[in-house]
Parts: sequence; C-alpha cells; structure tokens
Amino acid sequence: MSGTNHLFSELRANWTDLDKVALETNDGRQFRYRDILALTARFANALVAAGVKPGDRVAVQVEKSPEALFLYLACVRAGAAYLPLNTAYTDAELEYFLGDAEPTVFVARPTHASAPALCTKTGVAGCYTLGADGDGTLIELAADKAETFENIARGPDDLAAILYTSGTTGRSKGAMTTHENLASNARALAEYWRFTDRDVLLHALPIFHTHGLFVASNVIFRSGASMLFLPKFDPNEVFRLLPRATTMMGVPTFYTRLIDDARLSRETTKEMRLFISGSAPLLADTHRAFEEKTGHRILERYGMTETNMITSNPYDGERVPGAVGFPLPGVSVRIANPETGELLGADEIGMIEVTGPNVFIGYWRMPEKTASEFRDGWFITGDLGKIDATGYVHIVGRGKDLVITGGYNVYPKEVESEIDALPGVFESAVIGVPHPDFGEGVVAVVVKTKDAAIDEKAIHDALKVRLANYKLPKRVFFVDDLPRNTMAKVQKNVLRDAHKDLFVR
Ligand code: ATP
Ligand code: MG
Repeated sequence: MSGTNHLFSELRANWTDLDKVALETNDGRQFRYRDILALTARFANALVAAGVKPGDRVAVQVEKSPEALFLYLACVRAGAAYLPLNTAYTDAELEYFLGDAEPTVFVARPTHASAPALCTKTGVAGCYTLGADGDGTLIELAADKAETFENIARGPDDLAAILYTSGTTGRSKGAMTTHENLASNARALAEYWRFTDRDVLLHALPIFHTHGLFVASNVIFRSGASMLFLPKFDPNEVFRLLPRATTMMGVPTFYTRLIDDARLSRETTKEMRLFISGSAPLLADTHRAFEEKTGHRILERYGMTETNMITSNPYDGERVPGAVGFPLPGVSVRIANPETGELLGADEIGMIEVTGPNVFIGYWRMPEKTASEFRDGWFITGDLGKIDATGYVHIVGRGKDLVITGGYNVYPKEVESEIDALPGVFESAVIGVPHPDFGEGVVAVVVKTKDAAIDEKAIHDALKVRLANYKLPKRVFFVDDLPRNTMAKVQKNVLRDAHKDLFVR
C-alpha cells in the first residue's frame, strides 16, 4: 500500500483555492474548502478518540447536514468505512443493520432517545449524536480536537464505505465500496459531464444513498466546484436558488414536480447548463415536457449501489428519452442470457452485466450471495436490458420483475410503455400476481392525468391491437399515486401485496 489515502487524494486534487466556498446551505451557512479540511480533521481526530481504527465501520443515521457530509470525508481520512443509514429506518430495522455491520461507533439524531439502548443491545461501543444545525455530542467531541490530521494510508482496494441497497426487491444488502470504486467514478463522471470549478450544483438529494452522497458530492469535490445544499427537495427553495446554480441532479419525481410548477420556464432555468436524472426510469413524457418548458434536455444516467454509475447519455450527442446512454469511460457493459450466460447481440433483451473499476467488491458478510452475482468477473445487475445498434443501453425492467404467465415471459416495462403512451394516462405499474390457471396474472395499476376520463375498458381496447394477448392486463386499477420509496422507486411489492388475492382466494 502506498503512503497516501487514495480516495481523499483524488477528491482534494483540485482544491486549489482554499478560500473558495465549497458548500452553502439554503439558510446561508457557508463552508470554504479550508473549513472542510479543518472540520474533517477535527472529525477524524474525534473518531480516533472514540476508538475508531482503520478498517472499522462508522454507522450514521442523521438528518442531512453539511456536517454529516463532512463526516463521510472524515471517515475516509481516518481509514474507516462510512455507513449511512436511511433516516426512515425504525429501531427494529436499525437493530438488524447495526447487528449486521458491527460498527465501532453509531451516530444518531439528537432526538433519537432510544439510540443508547440500541447501541447497548447491538454491542456498539460508541454512541454519539449529530444534529442538522451542527450540534450534538460528536461535534462536542470534535470541538477541542486538532485542525490537522495525518490521513491514514489507504490503497485503491481498501474499503471506503458500506451502503445498504434501497430494498426495492427484498431485504437491503450492504454493498462494500472501495476507494478506487469511488475515485474512478468521480473522475469519470466529472469528465463525462464536463464539470469545472465554475460549477454550482443544486444539491437537494438525501445523502444516505449513492446518488446524493457519492455521485453528487464526489463530483463536486473532485472538480473543486461548489454546491447549494438543501435539506430536502422543495420547489420554492429550488426556484429561489436556480439563478445561482449551473447544474442539478435529481430523481424523476423532482422533475415531474418542477414540470407541474408554473414557475418552470426558459427564463427561470437560463443560468443552468445541465439537469441530470437517475435512480429510477425517467418517463419519455417527463423528458419531453421538461424540454418543452425549459429548452433543456434532461440527461439520464444509470447506476446502482453495487456498481456506482454505469452508463450515461452523452453530454454532446443525442440524449435519447427512454435510454440510459453509453458505458462511462473504463466501464464495460454486456447483455447475457439470464439462464445460460450466453452473450446476446444488438437489440436482444437479456441480463445487464457490468465490469470495471466502478464495481464493488461484494456484499458485507454474504460471500455466497456475492459469488452468485458474478459471472467470470462480471457483476450481474439483476436489470434486464438491451444495447441497440448505435450502442445506447436501454433498461427493460428488473429481472425479479419479470411476469411469467401461462409459460410466457412478460416484461412489465413493455406493457407500461404502451399504457403510458395513451392519452389520459400519467404513469403505470404492471405486476404479476398469483393466478390459479396461469401461475401469474398480469395486472396494471394506473395513474390518470388530471381530469382524464380513461377507464379500464378503454385501456383494454387500446392495448389489444398493440400487444399479444398474453401480455394484456387481466385487470386495470386506478390510483392517485404509485407507492414509492425514498429514492422514488416504485414499490411493486406493495402493489403485489395489495392485489395478491385478486385471482386466488
Ligand atoms: P435492492 O437492490 O435492495 O432491491 P435497489 O436495486 O432499488 O434495491 P439501488 O441500488 O438504490 O437499490 O438502485 C439500483 C437500481 O435502480 C438499478 O438496479 C435499476 O433497477 C434502478 N435504476 C437506477 N437508475 C435507473 C434509470 N436511469 N432507469 C431505470 N432504472 C434505474
Ligand atoms: Mg438492486
């Protein structure tokens, strides 16, 4: 191992002007690059004082704040693995995560009264708090610590973080992410998306997930750029700050909410050079409506907790609605038959597999699960997709999402795309639920656009001329909103559960 700290060296390579404001909160708190160096040193010293050793885990479940973000950098400097936890997790869920990860320290919200008891129960030695305004016992511990810290030497393959996956398809798994995974991805994205130190990112994403924590923040740090930091997505704050920003990263629901807002226009987005979307599919309608109102074509990218970012639509070339673009520099993507592993050609649908410096080293304490998700060094994403003749990657759905009805494979995304294209439909989710004759029966859950009159029969009639019989939903239900988790992903398990007795009793 070299004497440097691989990730921290990469991230701070372009901090040439230490007086530059790197982060400003929407209520006006400012942090210069100089302050980040000092604060992360104080935090790193505090972690060492709390007993954290290189290779240890530091679990964190706090509200979004600049300090929480700097704590991630402090862990990197101290050679520990940062382990952020969704603020929505209950004590029962935390008990699983803390017991599974065995961190040395747990940092909780000051209002989390049961945190000390939880630490005792799960054997976590150090229990601290960190509040959204920079208060809490961890800050107190850090306050009298030195403003300098000699970074712990870490190599490319050392652990930088453990991030639990979103739990869309089952229990969350801890993805072990290395220094080089994050360094290579930050470099690739900053170059691909043309970030410079003049960029100002509107940062409205949560920071317990790879999108807000790594994609957004690492790209900014790596570029010596700056961010406007919002505690959460709030259109009023977004419109107030847009004139000072150059870029925004969001999940598709951010964009649908902006489109619904009368303030969205060419004028209010004229300082922006780039809007990026990811974490869930961006509907072609959203892409078009945003372009109509602003003249900006949203740039969609694709990634996952285990692989960091995999593909992106091009900066200069065509940003194709419904496609997720090309593999990032250094990353390779292939499509394989899910059962046999045989490689498939252009436009053939199969399993998306990935290799490159971006791919994680495995699931925390799940060696068998890890082994089963790799084929000859390629990570099996679990997403179904295809690569078209021009090289664009398209996601067709999740492997686990596939509906098998009467022996036929139905890709829900294909049916959803047909339904979504109908006038009066805003979006839809297609699921399979137990069926006595067919194994699974296809069901569609649909959200109408405002005041639309479309009904079940109209949808059925429209689809029947476009899709093979076995793909047609046997039933269509209308809802006001699809259930989503905090990263805006549709929770099909909730829908499947709600309709599980539809055909069988
Ligand atoms: P779990 O693995 O626990 O079931 P999850 O897969 O939702 O949850 P994440 O790692 O947060 O957890 O999400 C990665 C997934 O998000 C990808 O595998 C893919 O299905 C989806 N995804 C990300 N970006 C896009 C995109 N642009 N279009 C479509 N799907 C996307
Ligand atoms: Mg997943």
